[in-house]
Amino acid sequence: MHISFEVFPPKKEGDFEQAFEIVRTLSEYNPKYISVTYGAGGSKSKKTLDIASYIQKECRTSAVAHLTCVGSTRKEILARCKELKEHNISYVLALRGDRPKDMSDQQFNSREFAYAMDLIAFLKENSSLAIMASCYPEKHVESNSIEEDLYYMKEKQNLGVKSFISQMFFDNELFYDFMDKAAAKGISVPIHAGIMPVTSAKQLGTSVSLSGCSVPKKLADVIARYGANSADMRKAGIEYATKQIEGLKRQGVAGVHIYTMNKPEVAAEMIRSL
Ligand code: FAD
Repeated sequence: MHISFEVFPPKKEGDFEQAFEIVRTLSEYNPKYISVTYGAGGSKSKKTLDIASYIQKECRTSAVAHLTCVGSTRKEILARCKELKEHNISYVLALRGDRPKDMSDQQFNSREFAYAMDLIAFLKENSSLAIMASCYPEKHVESNSIEEDLYYMKEKQNLGVKSFISQMFFDNELFYDFMDKAAAKGISVPIHAGIMPVTSAKQLGTSVSLSGCSVPKKLADVIARYGANSADMRKAGIEYATKQIEGLKRQGVAGVHIYTMNKPEVAAEMIRSL
């Protein structure tokens, strides 16, 4: 089973040295790749490019640049492809993204890419990038059913997507069930399991409200027991996520993608105890 990591670019301008240190540390654990998130509006794309480029060039680790399309024109996406090529980045995670807050109804309704699939088809036609895509073990918040999501997932595979990275989940059984359903629909490319170590009760609240993933009783009990003490909560959260990964490994899952939240020391502790 391979491990990969997700990082996000620095929020403040000028914080690059810290971001570079984070990816340098993560690289020491020989991940299959490190992916770098991208703002849905595309305005911070340069930061994603700079970090991905550093991972690729200085850390000698494969970088996966996330690329969202909801706020972008075809021309802008072509410009991103050119920049990625110039920086020798050959993998992208092609996403729709969520509607940016400052996007008007008129802009939203006339957007050039309606869904991630439109971006994937466009990238296939206009670039040589290797394309990855997202998936949601508990369905995407806008979907009516998991079947609807699986239908579009299969379409993405048909367009040439090489692998999927899943939304985070806290209950492995949900993921196994999703894998079975995906296989039954003919989805045969690897699905990398998204795992996020929850090191504080506040972090869990934010992640759950953003991602729509459910909190199983086991994890709720951990939060109830340790949530008030930050050191204990950190330890218990790392242990919970590590156990999830051990279970996935036993089940023969191909890859685990750790949402590091830019805390390399947390990821490192998990890797060491695996
Ligand atoms: P899509 O695949 O387009 O799906 C969105 C919804 O539309 C789903 O309900 C789907 O079932 C439906 N759908 C898909 N295709 C069609 C179609 N052709 N017709 C009708 N309905 C359709 N967001 C960021 O802004 N930046 C990031 O860096 C980022 N990284 C992420 C990484 C991972 C691993 C994941 C899982 C999510 C990430 N996101 C990121 C969040 C993501 O942008 C949102 O979840 C977004 O709402 C959906 O993006 P998508 O590419 O999954 O959308």
